[in-house]
Amino acid sequence: MEAVDPVPSGSRVQEPVPWWRRRRRELLEIARKGTPAYVYDLDQIRLHARRLRRLRHARRLFYAVKANAHPAILRALAGEGLGFECVSAGELELVRAALPRLARGRILFTPNFAPRDEYAQAVRAGAWITIDGLHPLEQWSGTLAGADLLLRVDPGRGAGHHRAVTTAGPRTKFGLEPEQAERALALARRANLRVLGLHCHVGSGITDPLVWEQAAGPLLEILARHRRLRVLDLGGGLSVPAGESDLPFDLAGLDRVLGRVRRAAPGVEIWLEPGRFLVAEAGVLLARVTQTKAKGAEHYTGIDAGMNTLLRPALYGAQHPVDVLSCSDSGIRRRTHLVGPICESADFFGCSLMLAPLREGDVVAIGCAGAYGRVMASSYNGREPAREVVIGSGRPDVA
Ligand code: PLP
Repeated sequence: MEAVDPVPSGSRVQEPVPWWRRRRRELLEIARKGTPAYVYDLDQIRLHARRLRRLRHARRLFYAVKANAHPAILRALAGEGLGFECVSAGELELVRAALPRLARGRILFTPNFAPRDEYAQAVRAGAWITIDGLHPLEQWSGTLAGADLLLRVDPGRGAGHHRAVTTAGPRTKFGLEPEQAERALALARRANLRVLGLHCHVGSGITDPLVWEQAAGPLLEILARHRRLRVLDLGGGLSVPAGESDLPFDLAGLDRVLGRVRRAAPGVEIWLEPGRFLVAEAGVLLARVTQTKAKGAEHYTGIDAGMNTLLRPALYGAQHPVDVLSCSDSGIRRRTHLVGPICESADFFGCSLMLAPLREGDVVAIGCAGAYGRVMASSYNGREPAREVVIGSGRPDVA
């Protein structure tokens, strides 16, 4: 990426008041037309894309579509110059439908245990393809002919906010062991396939930039032995602050780390494929209070969104900030568990939250819900996923 100006340090980019608090009236108006509803602010997404584009040592950015595949978001990010990382034929289709004129080479296909025909589809789409096992090279070299390939290597150690999103290290199903990468390169050479670089993604929700340097280590050793490899994709995983006391991700620190990695592999381009960082803070989930209940020593507040709407708290114990939008703040707080209408005890959004006393019909905003929210929704219990509303200035740019 071109250097625009220095990457801001972590603490300088923190917004003191989240946008969904500042735009309370607008959100209440949206909630009036129906809840639950995800609201995405495209300006926030562009802002985050521009922060990433200031990384001097990341040459290309591919947005991880799995985080949020809303077409307006895909178009906004294409307008900011990003490419797209897809993990399935379905995601390839979503990108192509939203951006029919997107140039070949701006899609990176990084599947895991996908069937052969999905690779064939990616080759037809002109995508870069990440190979993360020997099987495709041993069995399907004909299918891969003509494609530009990367090899996904497991550097041996993962990271992330939860073990379910840790995608490297022993007992994870992703990537080739560094020793297997040699065999993969030999297989590709024999089949006349073009391997242009290496890839790794060790997990999601990583707060320490040094993790990217540690992950790069074993890949740098391979690059040193194979000078014709030109790309080092270090994945995504950049964290977003989960609570008010968390610091924003240290982008300046990441750029320093990437600079060191680049100096260790002269002539190699570094790519990143962030998802959460770009969209998490741009999304809120609006929900309406359905019932309240005191039971024993506990107090519960029910809302019309459940784990079918936003799965992260039930799946990962993820924490999301909760704001009451519909009543003015009297300063009074009540300890309550915020729960949904799904018949599972895991159906909660927060335990022992200190919230203004809520009544039926009040509207709450569950913040930082733009990533891994609507994309993981289901119609479990016969409850449909939330609708989605896009706000923000200007029409999304089309690439
Ligand atoms: N790249 C790959 C291969 C992934 O599996 C993921 C997430 O699972 C990402 C990128 C994006 O991660 P994040 O949203 O944490 O940036």
